[in-house]
Amino acid sequence: MASSEQRVVCVGLICFDMITVCDGFPLEDTDTPCREQHWARGGNASNNCTVLRQLGVPCELVGTLAADDAAKFLRDDLSTCGIPHDRCVEDPAGATPTAFIIINALNGSRTILHESTRASEVTAAQFDDVDLRGCGWVHFEGRSRNVAEMREMVARIRRDDAADSIVVSVELEKPRREMEQLLPLGDFVFVGKEFAVFSGYESMRAAVEGLREKVRGGATVICPWGEEGACASTSDGTVFTAAAEPPEKVVDTIGAGDTFIAACIAQLYKGASVEAAIQAGCRVAGAKCGQMGLKDLK
Ligand code: ADP
Repeated sequence: MASSEQRVVCVGLICFDMITVCDGFPLEDTDTPCREQHWARGGNASNNCTVLRQLGVPCELVGTLAADDAAKFLRDDLSTCGIPHDRCVEDPAGATPTAFIIINALNGSRTILHESTRASEVTAAQFDDVDLRGCGWVHFEGRSRNVAEMREMVARIRRDDAADSIVVSVELEKPRREMEQLLPLGDFVFVGKEFAVFSGYESMRAAVEGLREKVRGGATVICPWGEEGACASTSDGTVFTAAAEPPEKVVDTIGAGDTFIAACIAQLYKGASVEAAIQAGCRVAGAKCGQMGLKDLK
């Protein structure tokens, strides 16, 4: 448990999302009117911070920010939302990662087309400049391009944190083999359904039980699984399950997983049990699915 003034640092992607809300899914090669279009700040780590902030957890975002117009929008939005981002790494030669997202308002599905090839990742050397005093928790969004650097960042935290007071969590979402190297790094390891299925697990229970063997001693594995809810396994082999809490109508599932993770971290940070944390994760993520965007979550 972190003391109430210690902040949670989230390391990962900040993305510019162009969102189009449609009544149904468009057909290829048609000209279709849509319900609404807007810009939003996205990216897993950035979304984690948006939710943590609303849940009253002091947090900070560490990612890269380019110098283009999209990055200006992202900086302004971070400031508006009260999310510290001063230690984001400047990437003047890069381009902001951008996603074009179609939301089908009839079922809440989100179809994402993204491009981030000209964006850089935070390096271990850059992370060395992040002052971890006053930090109680560091959460890493696993990035397949940046696995080696993330391993170094965690090594630095473990080395400098003589009192072993900083909690480290990692998220493994994308189905890439190299992500496995992140499994032993966290005290809490969040494994997305996509990565779990890619790793050969057919259920959330099988995933947490199977992956428990591959994480650090004492670590907890947590796996959200869409409409089924979430499962967790602590190091002694106890398995907890939480049912999803579906809203009346699913309208937007963008960031449901990010919301789940942030709500879990918020609970664990406040000293709650793993079981209570995944229940809260499902509650807040379920509420998120019933509304457009990530604002006003509690
Ligand atoms: P991602 O957004 O990464 O694909 P998931 O689909 O696994 O993440 O969802 C994360 C959490 O969000 C789930 O554990 C669940 O609590 C909640 N959730 C997702 N989809 C729904 C849904 N249709 N109804 C209710 N809760 C949902």
